[in-house]
Amino acid sequence: MTYPARRADSLFRDVWLPAETQAVRAEVRQFVQDVVRPVAHRLNTTPESKDIFPRAEFDAMARAGLYAIPFPTDVGGRGLEFPTLATLTVLEELGYYSRGLASALYDGQAILVGKTLDKAPQALRMHYLPALIRGEFVGAFATSEPEASTDLSVKSMQTTASRVPGGWQVNGRKRWITNSPVAEWILVLCRAGETLTMLMADMRAEGVSVGKPDLKMGNHVQLTADVSFKQVFVPDDHTVGTEGGGLRVALGALALGRMGIGAIGVAMAQASLDYAVDHMCKRKVFGQELARMQHWQYQFAEHAVGIEQARSLYQKAGYRYDKEGNAEVEAAMAKLTGSRLAVDVVRDAIQVCGGYGFVRELSGTGEQMPLESIYRDAKIGEIYEGANEIQKWVIARNIFGRAYTG
Ligand SMILES: Cc1cc2nc3c(=O)[nH]c(=O)nc-3n(C[C@H](O)[C@H](O)[C@H](O)COP(=O)(O)OP(=O)(O)OC[C@H]3O[C@@H](n4cnc5c(N)ncnc54)[C@H](O)[C@@H]3O)c2cc1C
Repeated sequence: MTYPARRADSLFRDVWLPAETQAVRAEVRQFVQDVVRPVAHRLNTTPESKDIFPRAEFDAMARAGLYAIPFPTDVGGRGLEFPTLATLTVLEELGYYSRGLASALYDGQAILVGKTLDKAPQALRMHYLPALIRGEFVGAFATSEPEASTDLSVKSMQTTASRVPGGWQVNGRKRWITNSPVAEWILVLCRAGETLTMLMADMRAEGVSVGKPDLKMGNHVQLTADVSFKQVFVPDDHTVGTEGGGLRVALGALALGRMGIGAIGVAMAQASLDYAVDHMCKRKVFGQELARMQHWQYQFAEHAVGIEQARSLYQKAGYRYDKEGNAEVEAAMAKLTGSRLAVDVVRDAIQVCGGYGFVRELSGTGEQMPLESIYRDAKIGEIYEGANEIQKWVIARNIFGRAYTG
């Protein structure tokens, strides 16, 4: 597939980004050009099956040291001053060509699994996090269930952990779990009595079974499935965080994941704008290029403003988190803005590209088009890792206070 020039470089300037983050952007952009771009169309359009897990790209990411970016040096990480900012920048760069890959191999693996392990008790952290950084296992992060996902309250959660000698016995079913068809380890949120506890279970243990990958509208390469647990033993020392502190652990990782969804949204919006603008400058309608039509000039001027805002928001969220260890409201704003923007920009991009936007591959010429897959991939950003209504609730809570919002 031929990709147009990236307008992010001329329209958006990383003027205030720390030099180390700018260096990460340049490094990962080169990696993505070499490794992801050549296979992106296949990753974005091949229907789900266990065989399509992008093992070669996963290994290449580990070899290139991309999994070291979010973490400190004691576990083999890079020890950056602004690790969250850099991690989000990696997601934007990966997501420009493949949202599914960015979501599964970086948001899922490095943030949801990796950042949870970074907060785990030291023995667990030191055992598994260096291995994750070296790319030695694929992990999964499981909170959602058939009857509980937005609502993670104790009374909704059906997966249970009961005390047995030396550890826990887990029973229940998790749903839509990213990377589960190929994962070796899973972080699983369980109801233990009247509280929630996060455990790290071996996917190869007796009693764990994984369904076939779900067939989804988009993000095909992000494989998800049901995972069921029947009397699965988890040793005591695989308790992640304190007993009863599971929700706190999960929400900590999800807050970072939300910033990541914002960054991936920016990537999709930027890729759509780049493709559409290039097309508009070449395609003539009624004797003039589409780019001469003021309607479309203004429409894409609005989208350029949106991209500037959404990118600035995810960067501010990451920066504040790195400085202060918390950025709840910025994370909610970044996720809401970036995911909504992606849906809006790709819809207009397809509209102005007409048939060339709607088609995935032209049989006449064999030419491959990227917008069709971005349109399918964009929608889930508004739903997962806390639906956008939940992000509005978080923001409203910061405006009005819990007494009004609950
Ligand atoms: C591709 C994909 C990957 C996923 N990966 C994972 C994973 O790795 N691990 C994991 O645990 N889960 C994962 N999920 C699950 C995902 O996080 C849930 O789908 C998401 O949390 C929404 O839950 P639900 O689909 O059950 O919707 P529901 O909880 O049924 O909510 C449906 C809708 O109701 C609305 N809504 C809910 N609450 C409110 C409210 N208070 N106010 C107003 N409106 C509201 C929202 O619009 C929401 O979209 C994944 C899902 C998908 C599709």
